[in-house]
Amino acid sequence: MEPKYKRIMLKLSGEALSGDKGYGIDFEVAKRISLEIKELVDMGVEVGAVVGGGNIWRGRSGEGMDRTTADYMGMLATCINALALQDSLESMGIMTRVQTAIEMKEVAEPYIRRRAMRHLEKGRVVIFAAGTGNPYFSTDTTAALRAAEIEADVILLAKKVDGVYNKDPHKYKDAVKYDNLNYIDVLEKGLQVMDSTATSLCMDNNIPILVFGLDNPGNIKKAITGEKIGTLISK
Ligand code: UDP
Repeated sequence: MEPKYKRIMLKLSGEALSGDKGYGIDFEVAKRISLEIKELVDMGVEVGAVVGGGNIWRGRSGEGMDRTTADYMGMLATCINALALQDSLESMGIMTRVQTAIEMKEVAEPYIRRRAMRHLEKGRVVIFAAGTGNPYFSTDTTAALRAAEIEADVILLAKKVDGVYNKDPHKYKDAVKYDNLNYIDVLEKGLQVMDSTATSLCMDNNIPILVFGLDNPGNIKKAITGEKIGTLISK
């Protein structure tokens, strides 16, 4: 089937990699996600990916710590996840590059936009690690920023729930899922999708965000072929 999007930015939270454990990396889960990414690559879709770090460390967990130091720890956590995802993808024969926003040349390439573009054109999955390289930001904002830079057609935001609801579907049985939303709705209603910095960046640069659940295998491919899943946030 023809993919609807040619180049995508996949945002995986750190928790997505930890599976049910809630902490660390579950390699079975990493393998499952990698298989789904492989399907996209095989279809000729160019894939950029940003992984969070919350399964290892969050800046705001550093109570009493200097915030910037705690945030740098969070950015390093995303590098650990990026290497795990790289390893998992490469074990399936998918070519990848990790590019980091904080230089660590012995481990991965530094982020260079033109190089990233070239890798994508060659069919390599580019994993953007170390967030934006700046404290006080998130990996959601990183996904929005890199998506704009690499001219991605869409951000695929993989979540534990299968879309955006008016209230927490785990707590409320009558929670209603939205099929479509615009950025202003997300900001005004304070919906838990992305932080407001990331949402605003997508709004200002007109990048659609497709929020979907990672728990159902095959969802990433469905999203790519334009099947109606999750919640689409656009203008
Ligand atoms: N982080 C940062 N700058 C960035 C990206 C991430 O400081 O550009 C830090 C921040 O401390 C964050 C942590 O890295 O808590 C992990 O990133 P993620 O977006 O996964 O955070 P979460 O949403 O899990 O708090």
